[in-house]
Amino acid sequence: SLILAIETSCDETSASVIRGGKHILSNIVSSQIDVHERFGGVVPEIASRKHVETITIIMEQAVRESGHKLGDLTAIAVTQGPGLVGALLVGIVAAKSLALALDIPLIGTHHIAGHIYANALVHELEYPCMALVVSGGHTELVLLESEGEFRVIGRTRDDAVGEAYDKVARALKLPYPGGPHIDRLAGEASEAITLPRAWLEADSYDFSFSGLKSAVLAVINQARMKGQELDEGALARGFQESVIDVLVTKALRAVAQYETKQLLLCGGVAANRGLRTELSERCGEAGIQLLIPPNSLCTDNAAMIGAAAYLKLTRGQFTELDMKADPGLSLEEWSVSRGV
Ligand code: ATP
Ligand code: MG
Ligand code: FE
Repeated sequence: SLILAIETSCDETSASVIRGGKHILSNIVSSQIDVHERFGGVVPEIASRKHVETITIIMEQAVRESGHKLGDLTAIAVTQGPGLVGALLVGIVAAKSLALALDIPLIGTHHIAGHIYANALVHELEYPCMALVVSGGHTELVLLESEGEFRVIGRTRDDAVGEAYDKVARALKLPYPGGPHIDRLAGEASEAITLPRAWLEADSYDFSFSGLKSAVLAVINQARMKGQELDEGALARGFQESVIDVLVTKALRAVAQYETKQLLLCGGVAANRGLRTELSERCGEAGIQLLIPPNSLCTDNAAMIGAAAYLKLTRGQFTELDMKADPGLSLEEWSVSRGV
């Protein structure tokens, strides 16, 4: 099978052709970071307009680079949600038009299922497995009891990890997106300012990062008020250590409780070097197989959408052409056992 997948949920316009659910024939990603950078975050109206300008070119390029023609395609996959509604719509309109014109099925796809199944493009998954999703808008522990069955056992109660990284970076006047800059500062620092960890209830797999973010802002404000020089490296390292400690501890506890062999790391924050290092050490000690996609498949891309859509393609679960963008689409309801 050949799936043309489209992703426009946020600030990346992307299209990809996937063969047999596993082989990436092309994966074109056009990032809008430079457009949004001066606003310090994604501006939804600008994101939609940029998607409109680039989507056709990106789709054409993805098909051309795959070495195939439009007529060879089996199905069109597109991110249905979650994401910015105006941004999602651009990809959805393009996908519907193509599906109709080529008379092939449409597959509305869950963005976070995509982040998780990015791992299937490079690794063999063994069920049950546990996924730790760390992205700009999500921080979740997801149990996959079998292929395409998603159960969210923990989620953030306030900020997502990536969001916390970006807010802390902004307070330190670092460029957007701030995650990679904090990661670098933390890695270079020789000392760390100790900051609180939000463990929540003893048996909870939920997360909370807004208290930590406030603690960081308090340190910055105090230094400014007293006219003291701030050790930004030590602050970045303290922040990162707190984040990683909670993520890794909860993920490993979940793996132990649900007796999974594998832990899948995914989402943009999976690029974090501190997190990767700590997770691989702790998984190594505990005999857990840690799967992480290459960085290019961690941040938003259409190949991961194609990988998730393949779950539905093989089961003949297709989406009607009147499908709507769904910014609040539930991951659990997108499970293959729930049908179309
Ligand atoms: P979602 O998938 O939840 O809708 P998103 O698609 O916007 O959100 P991603 O593209 O998966 O999010 O990830 C972007 C986030 O990853 C940003 O917040 C960015 O700062 C963060 N990030 C990228 N690299 C790193 C890094 N090395 N360390 C920490 N955070 C990082
Ligand atoms: Mg992005
Ligand atoms: Fe994403």
